Amino acid sequence: MLLSPQLRSALLAAAGSPTCRSLVENTGALRPIVDRFVAAPDVDGAVRVAAELATDRLVSLDHLGEDTTDRDRADATVDAYRELLTRLGGAGLADRAEVSVKLSALGRALPVDGEKIALDNARRVCAAAAEVGTAVTVDMEDHTTTDVTLAIVRDLRVDFPETGAVVQAYLRRTEADCADLAGPGSRVRLCKGAYAEPRSVAFTEKADVDASYVRCLRVLMAGEGYPMVATHDHRLVEIAEHLALRAGRTNASYELQMLYGVRPRLQEALAARGLRMRVYVPYGGEWYPYFTRRLAERPANLAFFARSLVGR
Ligand code: FAD
Repeated sequence: MLLSPQLRSALLAAAGSPTCRSLVENTGALRPIVDRFVAAPDVDGAVRVAAELATDRLVSLDHLGEDTTDRDRADATVDAYRELLTRLGGAGLADRAEVSVKLSALGRALPVDGEKIALDNARRVCAAAAEVGTAVTVDMEDHTTTDVTLAIVRDLRVDFPETGAVVQAYLRRTEADCADLAGPGSRVRLCKGAYAEPRSVAFTEKADVDASYVRCLRVLMAGEGYPMVATHDHRLVEIAEHLALRAGRTNASYELQMLYGVRPRLQEALAARGLRMRVYVPYGGEWYPYFTRRLAERPANLAFFARSLVGR
């Protein structure tokens, strides 16, 4: 069952509202549902969870935070990623753990030179990742940032060719972006998309988003890159496996990705079949916008959330 488009839009609007944010963040009763989606409050816990998951899966760690409008916070985010990467290297996890970053956490929205600052900061995170032997994937945010995000990924790939791009099947432009991104070695995460987008740029019906996802998968699987199939939709996972087989790909030439706390049994089952399964592991104190987007994806999450609010 899906959330109504109106309720989904309202929740996604709440993801950006400071008033809703302070209300929800100060409600201690929500901790159990937040903990389902957010792996740990700090780097120690994040590395511990990564080590547990890495016994049968790969991971991508996300230091939570976005929409930074303060230069010091953007710099602090870089420091947090550097510490994380050093810790992953020290724990011997760099071959199974990469990191995901949002350019808006690295300063892209700063009023002066935001894009340049975000690029410089992303370069510093990529350099720290390369030093310990792993890579960075640049998350995709709302459609107004798609061009600049892909341009920054292109720049980063000059020195760090393993840098991953993300594309969102709900955007009408994405099939064409997939064709551009399907070159040799190109790591591309395909997801459905998690933001509230207008009809002018995005498919809004689930069936249309799913059909677009399959068209994009076809392009990526037939290409020469490394597709990263990010979905919990088991039908799309089956289609991805089928298209990979048809394209003559081995299990090592693509991967599946799911979020921490979502369909963990399916994650384990796919990993047990020898498929590369990566878990996106968010951690840290700035969980509110990420958490609200997860609520908007599934009615059952919202019902659980509502019960927590009224103390049942
Ligand atoms: P859906 O059709 O939404 O869900 C299919 C089924 O999966 C549902 O029926 C349900 O059983 C289960 N499910 C899905 N979501 C949840 C949930 N929250 N809680 C419980 N069950 C659930 N979006 C971006 O815009 N930018 C990104 O950079 C980005 N990175 C991502 C990275 C990864 C690894 C993943 C898995 C997702 C990412 N997303 C990103 C989110 C994505 O765009 C979707 O919003 C999200 O994955 C839900 O879509 P779905 O493909 O799982 O399909």
